[in-house]
Amino acid sequence: MSDYKDIIRKPETLNWFKAAMGMNITRHCLLDIVKDATQELYDTIRKEINRKYGILEHVVCSQCHTPNVLPCDTDNKCCHYKYGSCAFHDIHKSQHCRANLCNEMCKEIVYHHRFRNRSKSKSFQGPTWENTDARKWCADPWNIAKCYLSKDGYKDVNKADDADFNGMVNVLINCEFFQMYFKDDLTQKENVCTKARDVGREVRHAPAMSMISQDSDRAIDTLVALLQSL
Ligand SMILES: [Zn+2]
Ligand SMILES: [Zn+2]
Repeated sequence: MSDYKDIIRKPETLNWFKAAMGMNITRHCLLDIVKDATQELYDTIRKEINRKYGILEHVVCSQCHTPNVLPCDTDNKCCHYKYGSCAFHDIHKSQHCRANLCNEMCKEIVYHHRFRNRSKSKSFQGPTWENTDARKWCADPWNIAKCYLSKDGYKDVNKADDADFNGMVNVLINCEFFQMYFKDDLTQKENVCTKARDVGREVRHAPAMSMISQDSDRAIDTLVALLQSL
């Protein structure tokens, strides 16, 4: 292996670094949007529950655990039956929230998930219930956003500031509520967000932390397109 000082000076290393910095800057720009929009999503969910069931927005609950409000069903990816019982629902059984609130919030979180209707034959890609704590839904809307993150690596990410680029982009892709912040049509299979996610993967997984300039230029163009679509 050549000397690390030579590696740092190599144009391919600098290209990779530029793309990685581009991701970092993009993440910073998205962070404020994700924070504001998450609060807005919570407010929208509460308005909808008020409209449907007359539960006022100042009513809050911090008693319901996620298994309490999530119906027992293996499609939700949390429930696994062993010897006839479900480990996820072993301690906290399904039950109705005393404030008549959390079960409805659970349904609204599903309603805002882009892939809620994927047919059962394919694997269900709805909310990531493992990541969230339903007791915090009213106090900390980030726990609602966590339902739209991918399953792995985010359980202990307890605030938006701690989410990485990939997590941020996944929330934008998976939660339909974020469409209103973008000019681009996020229902398209390929859109500014999915392209940014793919570019992010290429940069993260670039072997030897190096990229040819065509690839790093394309990565930066993709990130710029995402920001220009806001
Ligand atoms: Zn279960
Ligand atoms: Zn509750």
